[in-house]
Amino acid sequence: MEKFVIKKRASGKFRIALIYPNTYRVAMANLGFRLLYFLLNQRREIFCERFTSDSNLSIESGSRLKDFDLLAFCYQYENDLLRIIELIEKEKLWDKPKLFGGPCTTNPFPIRPFADLVYVGEAEASLEELVEAILRGAEREELARIRGVYVTEIDNEVRRAYPSVLPKLPPFQVSSEDTAFGDAFLLEMSRGCVWNCKFCMGRSIFAPYRERKLDDLLETIEIAMRKGKYKKLVLIAASIGNYSRLEEFCRELRKLVTKFGFVVSAPSVRVDALNEDLLRLIVESGERTIALAPESSERLRCWLGKVFDDQSVIDASKLAKRVGIKQIKLYLMFGLPGETEKDLIEAARLVNEVKRIGVRVTVSANPFVPKPHTPLEREQFVELKELKRRFALLRREIKTKVITEGLRDALLQALIARGDEIVGRMLLHAYRSYGRLDLRTVKGAAKQLGIELSDYLGERKGKLPWHRVKLL
Ligand code: SF4
Repeated sequence: MEKFVIKKRASGKFRIALIYPNTYRVAMANLGFRLLYFLLNQRREIFCERFTSDSNLSIESGSRLKDFDLLAFCYQYENDLLRIIELIEKEKLWDKPKLFGGPCTTNPFPIRPFADLVYVGEAEASLEELVEAILRGAEREELARIRGVYVTEIDNEVRRAYPSVLPKLPPFQVSSEDTAFGDAFLLEMSRGCVWNCKFCMGRSIFAPYRERKLDDLLETIEIAMRKGKYKKLVLIAASIGNYSRLEEFCRELRKLVTKFGFVVSAPSVRVDALNEDLLRLIVESGERTIALAPESSERLRCWLGKVFDDQSVIDASKLAKRVGIKQIKLYLMFGLPGETEKDLIEAARLVNEVKRIGVRVTVSANPFVPKPHTPLEREQFVELKELKRRFALLRREIKTKVITEGLRDALLQALIARGDEIVGRMLLHAYRSYGRLDLRTVKGAAKQLGIELSDYLGERKGKLPWHRVKLL
């Protein structure tokens, strides 16, 4: 049962399909998806309905995509493009106007064959201006002058749109028990990051670092919990420990937890900014898991810009255990530039030491994927065979279960992340030739079209397509 669903009479409305190309469970754990739904529906003349990959009918009224005036795709992760292409082809949506938004639009060129408009940036900045212009039937040239808007047919220069000050967060969010967080209110405390990890795209595409005001956050929580009765509060920030008024925030949040009885969860805490107050609060509210990302060996970690030693990871884990955390998720990367077997063995040794502390440890190890707009954007994506060898080594050395999101998927991710229009067309060709999209069919299409995947996956020299997109 969902709360805060928006229902309107569709007739006479401009109908927007807000499409998240993943399951309901994943889609509804995404703050952007929830906020867009709320923002777009604020206009009386618009009825925005949600679609996820579980069904080809809208959640709100059971309508088909063909019934909508505009298809708005949330492009969160590179591999979402595979599902988007499949959807466009299966549902025959080529004649429908399509707008793409989300973090991956900072390289809009692989999606150029599929999109009419791409919104590069944060919705609060100029999405309303764009929607208003669409509603009055503005010409493409006018749309291209709106900050953050890339009109694929014009191929205009684009500068990312973002608000210099984060507006107050609406206190009502659509939610249900069936999301990855359960029935939760997602509280974005800050956007951007104060750190400079070389591999991280989030750092550049959400710059500059901005915090929400303490009073606004507390007021939002109070209203959300009183009226929405959410069971959980999920704190969202690149590094919560760096929120400038964290101590006061924790003190006031504790009072609200006592008053309303909700669980506090903080999925993202940085080892060197771990805060005991926050940890205690999380545990007292009923949460027992945290995630830490040591990434690699101490040597490589510091080179990447995460300047903390192995001992800090162990100390942070001991602190977590002492305050009552039962499970620690550790995130590792492999296939990093300059990585040696020694780095992998040292990373494994660190995991084993954390395990010896006496907490339950789970490990997620994933290949390094060079991302646009990062200092490592020109690095090579290590070949699959070699990645398999390194992953096997990690698995052998780590004395607990190690999972990965998939090496083949990581390769496709690397291809799309640094791709261009040719990559987009190649994916479409693969789908049309083989009826599905995976590494095998993409390789088949590349061969048919005479495209060298290594041109995209290897070390990149010369001009890079996404440099045309200005982030600040
Ligand atoms: S702390 Fe996290 S979000 Fe910030 S730059 Fe490093 S990896 Fe990115």
